[in-house]
Amino acid sequence: MNGAGLILPAFVPMRLFLFTINWEKIPEQGLSAAADVSVEDLVALTALQDQGVCRFVTPIAASLDAHWVSELLQVSGHVSCDAVLSCSRCLKEFNQHLEGGFDLTFARQLPEISMTEDEEGEGVELTADDLGLVYAPGDVIELHDIFAEQLILALPTKPLCDDSCAGLCARCGQDLNRGDCGCRNNDFNNRFAALKNLKLNKE
Ligand SMILES: [Zn+2]
Ligand SMILES: [Zn+2]
Repeated sequence: MNGAGLILPAFVPMRLFLFTINWEKIPEQGLSAAADVSVEDLVALTALQDQGVCRFVTPIAASLDAHWVSELLQVSGHVSCDAVLSCSRCLKEFNQHLEGGFDLTFARQLPEISMTEDEEGEGVELTADDLGLVYAPGDVIELHDIFAEQLILALPTKPLCDDSCAGLCARCGQDLNRGDCGCRNNDFNNRFAALKNLKLNKE
């Protein structure tokens, strides 16, 4: 039996619902869904873990609301979890809460207003991008990567265990958050001695 067999049956449709919305199954009044999902459900996140960027230590809490605006589907999603990152200064691991959200409008067909006229009176077709829409012409709206992307964007480019982290000594490697190693003083004394010598040589 693999890990997927442990998931409660009621949980499965909810999960599929969240990340893969079937155009034909969206009720007129729209839909809401929320679930805690496993990191393994989002390939982009497991890839990050495999690269050693971070480790996700809680399930991924994801929720979405979708409603129709005529033929378009307005979808807002929210996602959060805790991850263990490694401090870019002292290399210590620390816990960080990550969260993000998105608001996107999906179109199964590009609306007719996409036809407009340019200066010469010629018909010009606007792309989905021009209209601020995400074009999803297939049977489903695929949201796995969109949810994963929000957490990836929430990752700090320079993770710090604390804004005031003193880092490691470049000379002896001691964690300077635990106290001074004395290297800096020695460096200063050595430089001072060199200057003194320099002055003596000049005379
Ligand atoms: Zn640190
Ligand atoms: Zn040192």
